[in-house]
Order: sequence, then C-alpha cells, then structure tokens
Amino acid sequence: TIAMVAIDAKGNVAAGTSTNGASHKVPGRIGDAPIAGAGAYADSEVGGCGATGDGDQMMRLLPCFYAVQLMRQGASPKQAAEAAVDRIAKYYPSFWGGIVVVNVAGEHAGAANVGTPFSYTVVSDATGGQPQIVTVTS
Ligand code: ASP
Repeated sequence: TIAMVAIDAKGNVAAGTSTNGASHKVPGRIGDAPIAGAGAYADSEVGGCGATGDGDQMMRLLPCFYAVQLMRQGASPKQAAEAAVDRIAKYYPSFWGGIVVVNVAGEHAGAANVGTPFSYTVVSDATGGQPQIVTVTS
C-alpha cells in the first residue's frame, strides 16, 4: 500500500490509499483501499488518516474513520492512531497493519500493531520541504 494524507495551502484535507490487492488482486475482492474510513479518511475540519495492512480486518473496524473521529473529540494524532490500531488488535491480536494520522495543524503520528515494521514520510513546511522518515515502534 501507499497511503497519503495531504493538506493544501487552504487547509483542505485529502487522503487516499493504493493496494497490493492482498496480494495482487484476489478476483472479486474489494479491499479496504476504496472503502472510506477503512483504508483512508479525510475531513477538512479535523484531519486525515491512511492505512496499510490487512484490509479485511480494517474493513470491519474502519480505523481511519475512528481515528479522525477521535481527533474531532480532542485526541492528539498519536492518541487517535494508537486507539484505532488497538481497537483492531482487540479483536484480531495478530493483525498486521499500521496507520498514519494527521490533524489540520499538521501534527502527525503513526501506530502499528505489535511486530509490524512501519515507517511513513513527512514532507511539509516544517521539514523545509525535505522528506522526513518517521519510524513507528509498536
Ligand atoms: N490494505 C491492502 C488490502 O488489504 C493491502 C496492502 O496493500 O497493504 O487490500
């Protein structure tokens, strides 16, 4: 997966996710990528989220929608990301996946389930336009 969350100069938030088709496009499988709230979610009032991992489990628990809703209620990106991943792990302890969460202020965080190596890249005014790689430890 490549998932992205973008905030433009006017504060519009967009998110999108590609998929490997888990893996390489199982015939008839929709997957999480095109399901709003599962593979990605954005709300310009709050922020956005992108996900990678086991889409069959993410489709059931909508981690990106949940993370954005938590931020709407006051959670930081880190709190929201961790709570959304923990919610999946509650039902699927061996869940493989991670999410990246960004709020409208540009604060960001990621979370991944235990044992999932997960990094994301940030490019912003705060990084001088240079890519900054953030590695999440679970
Ligand atoms: N989330 C994707 C899927 O299950 C897999 C991936 O590319 O991470 O379709």
